[in-house]
Amino acid sequence: MAKVKQAVFKAAMSGLYHSGATRLLSPYTQGSGLIFMLHQVRPAQGSEFNPNGILEITPEFFEAVLDQVAEAGLDIVPLDEAVTRLKEGDDRRFACLTFDDGYRDNFEYAYPILKRRNLPATVYIPTDYPPGRGELWWLALQEVIARADEIELCRDGSLWRLPTATVQEKWRAFEQIYGWLRAIDQVTQRQVVRALSERYGVDMEAMCRDLIMDWDELREIAADPLITIGAHTKGHYALAKLSSERAREEMKGGADCLAEKLGRWPEHFAYPYGDETSAGPREFHIAKELGFKTAVTTRKGMLFPAHKDHLTALPRVSLNGDYQSLTYTGLYLSGAPFALYNRFREVNAA
Ligand SMILES: [Zn+2]
Repeated sequence: MAKVKQAVFKAAMSGLYHSGATRLLSPYTQGSGLIFMLHQVRPAQGSEFNPNGILEITPEFFEAVLDQVAEAGLDIVPLDEAVTRLKEGDDRRFACLTFDDGYRDNFEYAYPILKRRNLPATVYIPTDYPPGRGELWWLALQEVIARADEIELCRDGSLWRLPTATVQEKWRAFEQIYGWLRAIDQVTQRQVVRALSERYGVDMEAMCRDLIMDWDELREIAADPLITIGAHTKGHYALAKLSSERAREEMKGGADCLAEKLGRWPEHFAYPYGDETSAGPREFHIAKELGFKTAVTTRKGMLFPAHKDHLTALPRVSLNGDYQSLTYTGLYLSGAPFALYNRFREVNAA
């Protein structure tokens, strides 16, 4: 189903591009600026089964987007400057770069590009990750399915068996299990992935140590004035699924830990997963109370002057691995796809 939706979206995007409608719409849809969301930046892995590929782009594509943003006349600014421009009604358009989770490839591939071009960025760190305690469960699940010919797991008290021998079966199984795991309570979700990892020989701790920057690497980039370190909780749970006390403790605890390790309390925050089921008004309020200057979601959209009153619920634009084409990013800069997307959702919700 996801593939079908993606094909429809790509066709709609292509139609939008070729119709020239974006040029007509952009004065109304482009807003003041946007916040790009990135995860991994590394050379293409070339695997046929790579459901988390949406979370990674190549260094070449990253550079091409940076060129495109510059050509479109947007300044790449730190989040602090974005806040200032929104508050002052400054009409110079801007883009911010944000990286979630602290992947080591950010250090190896993205950081040298940023340094060479003298561009600022924010990196959001869940503090369980640098010491190797992070449960990157979506990657562990991918690895389990990659290794197995069949998956057996316990769902709501009964046995669930999924064939995972062929590439197609692996994609289908990932989609089904991932969807279920995103919906259920956070404790069960982690238990299920831990049990699967153990059974199929996937070492989540080694995976975390391998993929995520350690504190030494983080100290190095944090010392660079170009890089802002932002908070991203401790254990990367979907906050809206936790009790209010737990959610607050995750948010504050992560920030306190960053302050202790890096010598500076983070002023910016990103909600793990960041969609409507993971962060809502309760979390936006807690972020404000804790004193974060901004907090970003993964809701899609551009920034408009009115966002100055909603700084702890900011939308972002994902640089998605499945859409590594300057045609798409050119459309993103116009804001038209998000205006249509949000309108489409409103119509469907009505
Ligand atoms: Zn994250």
